[in-house]
Amino acid sequence: MTTSTTAGIGHRGKKLTVAIDGFRGRLITADHPDYNIARAVWNGAIDRRPRLIAQCIGTSDVVAAVRFARAHDLEIAIRGGGHNVAGTAVCDDGIVIDLSAMRAVRVDPAERRAWVQGGALWGDVDHETQAHGLATTGGIVSHTGVAGLTLGGGVGWLMRKHGLTVDNLLAVDVVTADGELLRASEDSHPDLFWALRGGGGNFGVVTSFDFRLHSVGPTILAGPILWDASEAGEVLRFYRDFVHDAPDELGTVVRFGTAPPLPVIPAHLHWRPVVMVGACYAGPIEDGERVLRPLRASGSPLLDLIGPKAYSGFQSALDSTVVHGWNYYWKSTHLPELRDDLIEVIAGHAFSCSSPRSYVAMFHLKGAVSRVAEGGTAFGNRQASHAITLDAVWRPGEDFGDQDTVWTKGFFAALARFREGVYVNFLGGDEAPDRIREAYGESVYDRLVEVKTTYDPDNTFHHNQNIQPG
Ligand SMILES: Cc1cc2nc3c(=O)[nH]c(=O)nc-3n(C[C@H](O)[C@H](O)[C@H](O)COP(=O)(O)OP(=O)(O)OC[C@H]3O[C@@H](n4cnc5c(N)ncnc54)[C@H](O)[C@@H]3O)c2cc1C
Repeated sequence: MTTSTTAGIGHRGKKLTVAIDGFRGRLITADHPDYNIARAVWNGAIDRRPRLIAQCIGTSDVVAAVRFARAHDLEIAIRGGGHNVAGTAVCDDGIVIDLSAMRAVRVDPAERRAWVQGGALWGDVDHETQAHGLATTGGIVSHTGVAGLTLGGGVGWLMRKHGLTVDNLLAVDVVTADGELLRASEDSHPDLFWALRGGGGNFGVVTSFDFRLHSVGPTILAGPILWDASEAGEVLRFYRDFVHDAPDELGTVVRFGTAPPLPVIPAHLHWRPVVMVGACYAGPIEDGERVLRPLRASGSPLLDLIGPKAYSGFQSALDSTVVHGWNYYWKSTHLPELRDDLIEVIAGHAFSCSSPRSYVAMFHLKGAVSRVAEGGTAFGNRQASHAITLDAVWRPGEDFGDQDTVWTKGFFAALARFREGVYVNFLGGDEAPDRIREAYGESVYDRLVEVKTTYDPDNTFHHNQNIQPG
């Protein structure tokens, strides 16, 4: 059966009706009542107006949309979860190939594998995999998209034990720039599969991912400990030595900012500047209790919420602190181990933002992340100790934006002498092109250029952290 969907698009002042052959999803144009909802991304500071949004409901729709875009020479943006801070999921004037209606997840508990569609969010994956007491490394906010996160690498609570998200990727279905559907894995198009494990959306539209799963929970030992901001230096010095010797099961993220008004945090602490160490122990609860005891006893914690809890609940605990539609500006870098002079810089800058919602998050890497050889996948800088993001946050109508953007830039400049690469998914939209090279390192970047030249020589997929073909 031949199918097509039509929509009206404005072109050089005239209204044209477009039909995409073989497309069965929704086509949304500026005159559609859902246009503003469909073009909005997580970062409210991004305001772009595509000519057409092609909401795909299956792989064939993606093939049809790519072929249509190529035939009409349209700029292409690919939308997975729409979460990227740079807002690359939406473009001006071109077509958004939108996978947000493709969120299915199927789990094979016997094989410990999950098949996940290209528009799924991490909450979808955790929900289905946890029904079997299984999980794979995902992001620490459940409304983040699986696709963008995975294609950039994927850091999260489980990475030190089970590797990055890409280290658990077994295969993908991908629509290339020619509109061809390929299966990429270690055995099939291995060069493309290598590049997709870190190289972002440069090589095609991924319509599904196959992941390896691990036993996790469903109850795990996890939670944050909060100290007053004045203890930041002391807490970080203790933390440095503590995580240096920590087992791989322990994942931690340090958050500097005000205590968010979450129901689990007593009201008298809301908005108080605090250092918060979030911990997640991916192993037996009794072992976790023993491992975490010294951290919990250090300094004078204001609050200790570590305890047994549902893994999927913990994965969504921070969701309401980073709401869709607020405005965000990020700077980021990888860091080495926390020397005293680095701690001084972090503690000295972390609390000088003006918005009560701006914050800094620092992920502890190492463990299984650093045991994969550099260049084993396209995720660069595997030997770094920490990934830090300096995140300005302000709500629509608030005027913290300028000041806190200056704050992130000043803080970032102060970190200059410590920088060791960067995680590509934490890069903002206004970075110099050499930061993309920095994200990979020279040899991985050069290899990515080769694969890009093979699979997308015309740079069809360039609305991203772009790797230009040779
Ligand atoms: C609040 C917040 C928390 C985060 N936490 C984490 C974290 O814990 N760990 C972590 O690793 N990262 C984290 N990130 C960063 C995250 O990895 C990126 O924002 C990522 O791009 C989100 O994926 P997405 O699918 O939502 O992206 P989108 O915004 O939809 O897309 C971004 C880009 O990814 C590519 N892309 C998306 N979908 C596809 C697809 N199906 N096929 C091919 N290319 C595609 C495209 O190039 C697109 O431009 C976080 C981000 C935010 C905003």
